[in-house]
Amino acid sequence: MVSKSNAGQWARAGVLIGSSRFALTMSQSIVLFGPPGAGKGTQARAIVEATGKPQISTGDMLRAATAAGTPMGLAAKVYMEAGELVPDEVIIGLIEERLRQSDATDGVLFDGFPRTIPQAEALSEIATVGLVIAIEVPDRAIVERIVGRRMDPETGDIYHVTFNPAPPEVADRLIQRKDDNEETVLSRLAAYHSQTAPLAEWYRARDLYTAINGNQDIAAVGAEVAAAVETLR
Ligand code: ADP
Ligand code: ADP
Repeated sequence: MVSKSNAGQWARAGVLIGSSRFALTMSQSIVLFGPPGAGKGTQARAIVEATGKPQISTGDMLRAATAAGTPMGLAAKVYMEAGELVPDEVIIGLIEERLRQSDATDGVLFDGFPRTIPQAEALSEIATVGLVIAIEVPDRAIVERIVGRRMDPETGDIYHVTFNPAPPEVADRLIQRKDDNEETVLSRLAAYHSQTAPLAEWYRARDLYTAINGNQDIAAVGAEVAAAVETLR
């Protein structure tokens, strides 16, 4: 009997579970893991294109709820602007609801979730994680990445004032996230080290953790990410 929590590693090893390996592989989800500013959002689009799995970004979902002015969004905003994690119950509720949508049945790409061990435990009850792609970037590179980040509100494209400048035709409409300032980023990094980084060991112990060197240019990171995604096929 294969338990739910390690079904992913059995499938990666080519072990037949259920009716066919293909069916299980197709339903595996990917977790994009890393500190704030590691490049998760930047790399997500290519993974979506390669796998057909939809991207589920808890940060984007929370910002949408905040912009819509829902009670949950307004409560979450306080945590986000302080650079603290939103409580686990709220995040797990959001994910449970999102995974019920029909596009999630063949697995999804989680971006920025899970961020705590209780979130990972809850996730293991409701989905099969087949691969964790960890984009590793040292703290000293993070502040410059976050403070220079800009977003295109029309397309969701992510740019950087120095490392990935926007084309001139979109430059005028770029926005900067309110929490992308030097003070908040230090709180976010502290939250990452105390609450999220322990998840690396949690996923290593389950043989799901693939480390990527995120401290190189976007294309080089993309090549390593693509190679990691291939291991799921
Ligand atoms: P995350 O989703 O992990 O918070 P983003 O993908 O939003 O990170 O990237 C944070 C910022 O760093 C953005 O401005 C992005 O353009 C930039 N960035 C992403 N990857 C790299 C990289 N490999 N080298 C330099 N800058 C990068
Ligand atoms: P970044 O990758 O730059 O840290 P995100 O967009 O992923 O940014 O997250 C922005 C903020 O939203 C976080 O600082 C946190 O307050 C909240 N948040 C996002 N995802 C989670 C999560 N899984 N658990 C708790 N809080 C979250």
